[in-house]
Amino acid sequence: MTDAPREIEELIDLMAKLPGLGPRSARRAVLYLIRKRGILLHPLADAMHAVAVSARECVSCGNVTTSEVCDICTSEKRATGELCVVEDVADLWAMERAGVFKGRYHVLGGTLSALDAVGPEELRIPKLVARVEAEATREVILALNATVDGQTTAHYIAEELGGRCEVTSLAQGVPIGGELDYLDDGTISAALRARKAL
Ligand SMILES: [Zn+2]
Repeated sequence: MTDAPREIEELIDLMAKLPGLGPRSARRAVLYLIRKRGILLHPLADAMHAVAVSARECVSCGNVTTSEVCDICTSEKRATGELCVVEDVADLWAMERAGVFKGRYHVLGGTLSALDAVGPEELRIPKLVARVEAEATREVILALNATVDGQTTAHYIAEELGGRCEVTSLAQGVPIGGELDYLDDGTISAALRARKAL
């Protein structure tokens, strides 16, 4: 709590709900915004309003977009017959930053989790199966996180797609610039299993 007026208190409470920001960082951020009202607070409020009224999920892949279908799904150039399955839009953005994948995406919106009662229906997995059939997909590339839930989800999807197309997953192993001595045992054993001929 601060002694700030109610409106400012409310803004602090909302900001504190953002990932990575607690109440203390939220107070500092709000103070900073108020000091920079002209160059930061007003433009930020306008940008937030614009996104609040226009942002939505692509009906095809689950990407964040401002139209019914996102630019990647509408681009004919991306109709390569390859579908890259990711957990989250942040992962899609990471793949796009790398700039090497030329196909389309399918965003699950999470991973299967018995603990959090997340089943296939919550994850757009039935939608993925339908897309693979409708879009004559040649290959589904599973780019899921190397966590227990991520890998459980990958195996489930591979089984669901069984025979409809080729199913591959990203390699796991030594990161670029990584040193063996610093890797954990799981990473080293995954890298050894995924070894390739030179
Ligand atoms: Zn899309």
